[in-house]
Order: sequence, then C-alpha cells, then structure tokens
Amino acid sequence: MSSRPIKSVLIVGGGTAGWLTAAILASKHKSEGESGLKITLIEASDIPIIGVGEGTWPGMKATLRNAGIDENEFLRECQASFKQASKFVGWKDGSADDFYYHPFELPEGFYQGNLAQYWVDAGKTDTFSSIACAQEAVCEKHLSPKLITTPQYGGALNYGYHLDAGKFSGFLRQHCTQKMGVNLVLDKVLNVRFRENGDIEAVTTENNGDIDADLFVDCTGFRSLLLGQHLGVEFKDKSAEMPINSALAVQVPYQENEPIQSATISTAQEAGWVWDIGLYNRRGVGHVYSSNHVSDEEAARQLQKYLGVTEVEFSDLTPRKIDINPGYREKFWHKNCVAIGLSAGFLEPLEASAMMVIEASAALLADHMPANRSAMDFIADRFNKRFGFRWQRIIDFLKLHYVMSNRDGMFWKDSADPATISERLKADLELWKAQVPNKAEFDSVDEAFPTASYQYVLYGMGYKTAPRGVGVSPDEERFALSAFSNVERNISLMSTKLKTNREILDIING
Ligand SMILES: Cc1cc2nc3c(=O)[nH]c(=O)nc-3n(C[C@H](O)[C@H](O)[C@H](O)COP(=O)(O)OP(=O)(O)OC[C@H]3O[C@@H](n4cnc5c(N)ncnc54)[C@H](O)[C@@H]3O)c2cc1C
Repeated sequence: MSSRPIKSVLIVGGGTAGWLTAAILASKHKSEGESGLKITLIEASDIPIIGVGEGTWPGMKATLRNAGIDENEFLRECQASFKQASKFVGWKDGSADDFYYHPFELPEGFYQGNLAQYWVDAGKTDTFSSIACAQEAVCEKHLSPKLITTPQYGGALNYGYHLDAGKFSGFLRQHCTQKMGVNLVLDKVLNVRFRENGDIEAVTTENNGDIDADLFVDCTGFRSLLLGQHLGVEFKDKSAEMPINSALAVQVPYQENEPIQSATISTAQEAGWVWDIGLYNRRGVGHVYSSNHVSDEEAARQLQKYLGVTEVEFSDLTPRKIDINPGYREKFWHKNCVAIGLSAGFLEPLEASAMMVIEASAALLADHMPANRSAMDFIADRFNKRFGFRWQRIIDFLKLHYVMSNRDGMFWKDSADPATISERLKADLELWKAQVPNKAEFDSVDEAFPTASYQYVLYGMGYKTAPRGVGVSPDEERFALSAFSNVERNISLMSTKLKTNREILDIING
C-alpha cells in the first residue's frame, strides 16, 4: 500500500483552478501514453464556475508558455488585454489627486541598488512609483507593454493579463484535452469512498460510477467538496483581519473609443473598494465591501455612482452578488487530497493574489509529485507549512494597503485597528520608520510579494521613513541619478514607440 506508485491524478472541478492545475501538471508530467501520469478532470456542467477573477500577475505568462499556448490565440479567445499594474485611487484620504501605482516593473536598477533609499534620503518630492520606473507613465497613456513585433510573452515592460474568466477556463479545457492529454469527465461528484487508512479511494459520480485515482485535487470552489466537506479539514476564519465579505459584479460595455486601461483600477469606497478591469471587448467592474459596515443597497448605489449610470441602466447590467468568507483551510493537503483554488481559501480580490496562489500550488505539486504513497505525507507536511506561511504573508501585504489610510468611516478605522494586524507586520512598520524595505528582509522563497511591491505600496500610501543619518554616498548618488535618467529616457522612448492597448489588441484580434 505505502509503496504504491502515484500514477493517476483526479482533479475535481473545472473552474480556473482546475484547468490551470491540469495544464501545470500536464506541462511537467506529460500525460499522453502509458508511462506518463494519468490526469483526469471531472466537472459538473450544472454547477457554474464562479466566473470572476479577471486580473493576473506576470507569472501567468510562464504558465501559459510552458503549456505550449500561443499567446495571440489566448488573447483572442479570452478577450484578454495586458495588465501592467494596479492603480489605487482614493486610498490615502480620498482627495482629488489621491492615487498611486503598484507597477509590475521593478524599480530601475533593483538588483544594483535600493532606489527607494536614495528617494527617502534625498527628500525627493515626486511620488516613488512615478520616478522608479516608466510603467506609471505608460499606464496613464493606456499604452501596451509591447510592440506588435515583440516575441510572444516578451515585452518592453513586465505584464500580466486581464481576461474573461468564463472564456479562460473554456480555453484551457480545450487546450488541455486536445493538446496535453488530459481526460475530461463531465459529471457530478455525489460522494466519496475511503480506504481503510482514511485516503480517498474513489469519487462516486452521477453517471459514471466510481472513479478512482492515487491522488485527488479538490478544485470545487467555495464548496471545498473533498478537503472541507468529506475530509473535514477545518476552515480558518480570517474575517477579523479581512472584513470584506461581499461582492457585487457587473460587466460593462465600452463607450465608443473608450481606452483600454493598462492597470486594474481599485477605487476606495466608504466600506470597501471598486475594481475596474478593462478586457478587449468589455469592462469587468465590481464593488467589494464589508456588509457589516454598509448595506447591500447602499453598496449597489455606490457602484452605480461609480459607473455614472441611471438606476435603470444599472439594473440592466444585472449585478451579481457574491458572498465571500475570508479565510483558508488549516491544511491544504490532507491524506491523498490537495485543495487548490477557492476550495483552499480566499481573502479578497485586492492585488489579485488568488490565481497567483493557484499557479504556485499547482507548480509545487508538479515539482514535488510524490513518487509513491509513503512519500506523500512528508511532501504534504512541507506543502502545508509553505502555503500556511504564504497565506499569512498575503494577509500582511493586503493589510498594508489599509493600515496607512487616513480615510474616514468605521470600515477604514476597523481595518486599521492594531488588534487586527499581525506581529510581523507591526514589527515591519516600526522598522520601516527607520529604514526602507530591503531585499534581505524578504528572504523566503515563499514570500508572495517582493520587496519592490512593499516599497510601491508603502510610499504610495505616503509612509514616512526617516532619512539615514549618514547621508547619501557618492556611489549611491551616481547610481540613483543614472537610474532616474534611464527612467526618463524610457518614458520618452516608450511614449513614441508603443501603441495603445486598443491599437495593438485590434491588430491581434484582426
Ligand atoms: C469577487 C471576486 C473577485 C476576484 N478577482 C480575482 C482577480 O482579479 N484575480 C484573481 O487571481 N482571482 C480573483 N478572484 C478569485 C478567482 O475568481 C478564483 O480563484 C478562480 O476563479 C478559481 O476558482 P475555482 O476554480 O477555485 O472555483 P470555481 O470557479 O467556483 O469552480 C468550481 C468548479 O467545481 C465544479 N464542481 C463543484 N462541485 C462539483 C461536484 N460535486 N462535482 C463535479 N464538479 C463540481 C464546478 O462545476 C466548477 O467547475 C476573485 C474572486 C472573487 C470572489
């Protein structure tokens, strides 16, 4: 039993998590032929996918490329566009000029020096994100990160995607089943059969009887059918730290010649924030909020106001309410079952970390696919430790956006309550009063967000780090001045060479 080799994986659930997991596993363990890992995915056609989740991180480029996907075909089929940043509007105090960027591009010369340190010491008055790299200027002009001649997945600037979630899982389904040897079963899982040791032996389906496998991946969304319901792994409720618990989502047609934004726009509201994502053919807009701080009706009114439409026009957009239970599982891998996606947990959509965690979970599973059942418990234990750390660090990073806000209202006060901030983040905030975030502080491979992300958000939110007493050395000055002039040169070059998102996507879709 324990030396039983792992030869088959059954993924339950065909949303973004299920199909990304299938693609990542099949990229590494070709499932065609007798010798490869047999990968099967079962999805229920009458249980819809969540259908939101339209902003990705740049890591998605490598995931798609490794799966052998043609980038232009993906862009066309998923009505996708390029995402280069998140733009935060109104998060500091809600004043008219209150915005900052968290770009995907690292600060210029990131591996040679710490530009943020010079920016603090020299008392620069330009915002950090506007001078650290060219991406903010490029985003403000709605420019694409690449030329039409740039090779697939390459770019003048780093980018991820905005994509249609429904189309994306359909696109991956087709690619995985037609080109990667993944087997698809369209059926509903009704029950689970266990082995004596508590492992899952098989799932019982409505029309295809029992389907067995050596390893099961639970991608059943918020239901967490295998890990939560059948294996009874507890849910860690994080609503005290992360009060957002509701979303209202709409799909909005473009006005004629409306630009396609290069960034996800996150606009702060009374008790939450509005996301605004520009796809090729439409916008995806939604209000995420805490229903303990604002009523559903008021939240809808605020979304309507954001969209600048009448009540009738708003109701024609058929807003969809989604309940969010912020938190994650005590364990992500238990016995012979791994949860990936919403079944493992979800906090809130800020910074679009969910698909990033799906990709990281599936990649770790693919890299450490247990050779046999006896190896599995050791790997599961390490997997659980690594992802437990990662989820907690995601909470810290999301919390960072809230704790420095000077906005009025109970939601913002409650979100910044020190009782809801981890000891690690409290210590970091103390440390950063004296020195800027430094690469050496973020030494774990499982950090979800890099040092640069902390710098962009911290200084975007107006955090004050004291200049060092020793002043700026001539070398540091030379490095920083050369970095700033590179940024200026890049802005001017890119402003003349890059087409707008719409122009380049028209060519790709043409
Ligand atoms: C408001 C909101 C905004 C978000 N925005 C972002 C974002 O910008 N970026 C980001 O990265 N993430 C975002 N997310 C998260 C993202 O939507 C999810 O991580 C992603 O869609 C993955 O969902 P899933 O595949 O885990 O679940 P689902 O999409 O719910 O899929 C579940 C699947 O399980 C199947 N299933 C369920 N029960 C059974 C059964 N009994 N038998 C067989 N099959 C079954 C269903 O048929 C379905 O195929 C957002 C989430 C929310 C709520």
